[in-house]
Amino acid sequence: MHQLTLAEIARGLADKKFSSEELTKVLLARIAQLDPQLNSFISLTEDLALQQAKAADARRANGESGALLGAPIAHKDLFCTQGIRTSCGSKMLDNFKAPYDATVVAKLAAAGAVTLGKTNMDEFAMGSANESSYYGAVKNPWNLEYVPGGSSGGSAAAVAARLLPAATGTDTGGSIRQPAALTNLTGLKPTYGRVSRWGMIAYASSLDQGGPLARTAEDCAILLQGMAGFDPQDSTSIDEPVPDYSAGLNGSLQGLRIGVPKEYFSAGLDPRIADLIMASVEELKKLGAVIKDISLPNMQHAIPAYYVIAPAEASSNLSRFDGVRFGYRCEAPKNLEDLYKRSRGEGFGPEVQRRIMVGAYALSAGYYDAYYLKAQKIRRLIKNDFMAAFNEVDIILGPTTPNPAWKLGAKNSDPVAAYLEDVYTITANLAGLPGLSMPAGFVDGLPVGVQLLAPYFQEGRLLNVAHQYQQNTDWHTRTPTGF
Ligand code: GLN
Repeated sequence: MHQLTLAEIARGLADKKFSSEELTKVLLARIAQLDPQLNSFISLTEDLALQQAKAADARRANGESGALLGAPIAHKDLFCTQGIRTSCGSKMLDNFKAPYDATVVAKLAAAGAVTLGKTNMDEFAMGSANESSYYGAVKNPWNLEYVPGGSSGGSAAAVAARLLPAATGTDTGGSIRQPAALTNLTGLKPTYGRVSRWGMIAYASSLDQGGPLARTAEDCAILLQGMAGFDPQDSTSIDEPVPDYSAGLNGSLQGLRIGVPKEYFSAGLDPRIADLIMASVEELKKLGAVIKDISLPNMQHAIPAYYVIAPAEASSNLSRFDGVRFGYRCEAPKNLEDLYKRSRGEGFGPEVQRRIMVGAYALSAGYYDAYYLKAQKIRRLIKNDFMAAFNEVDIILGPTTPNPAWKLGAKNSDPVAAYLEDVYTITANLAGLPGLSMPAGFVDGLPVGVQLLAPYFQEGRLLNVAHQYQQNTDWHTRTPTGF
């Protein structure tokens, strides 16, 4: 039963082959048995899950239907869940129970999804390896000595190991697409404003976006359908109708113009990944796509711009964790300043502290123009590059990451080496565009992802292309040994 996709689960539930309660029990037992190897969950919500599963079964018995009604999922532990610990992977929020549900959590619950638990993540979503979590590193099910990617590494590892069919994640600079690539999943970062950020603990507000991680594009369509939509409580949410993503999966790719940027194939890319990406291009050509060489000339500036903008916003967002209002408070503070300093010094881990310092520096008087303002100008140039490219092509295709997963600990002493892994993903966040990563093959037994980018609000196009690709390839069906 644990091998079923969301789409298969929906059919099985509709055909009364099994109940949501039965399925939920199977998956909870599987998590109890296998997750100790992976560490992909921070909290399990067994009681809530069984209660939601029974309620979903009752709704189905009353004639209700829906692709998510009774479907087991999990949430990255930065989505607020009422009365349940919402840690953001940090000691700072280890004792924090959210007073309300994030809009995404509430919408999925209303659609009948069953929450099995909250998944592990890099602390405050800062990282690409899931090693900065206060709750310990997550292991990649494809090789337990390797990282699963981050920051949504817990969601990715859990879905890849078939502990559950799908999970939510968030993507500020690649945190859905990169762990999807490193664990052989399909992951989608929607257009900025497509999914509500209300109740999603902020890392960098102008870049953060929630989205689905699943094994197939078909399942991402189902989960995104439940997450997307206008939310008056998020002032950056956009009031744009949500199409029926599942209905759009079977569109023909005949004549689809795919742009392949020459800058993507530079020295930093593992040549074996380059070969797999070109093989995916060939596959899409067979389905009728036409390939065009394009250029994104400002791409080389994306990492420096992102690593100014994201920490700058983080330094502001994380100022609310002061030992007074939320979460961790140090023991026996001597005075107010001591309370602030020690609560933050003891509550935040090293990567978070590093980013707060970088961000506060970049925003300080005298440096603002040199760093923050400059980074914002680069951001606009990157967006303009995409706008020019999308005048000529319908989709942009390339690698999701320059390398496959690396060994646990391998990049710990060199944060910049980890930052460089984000080179292909962060431009979509800087421009606010939707992006999807899907399985494209293996290098040394480790999964490789191909990334597709589309114009604003064209998530449906990404899902359509990925689904057609998955109808004709079987990379996404490969299962890690032992799971
Ligand atoms: N790796 C990037 C960072 O560390 C992206 C993280 C994310 O998307 N949350 O900032």
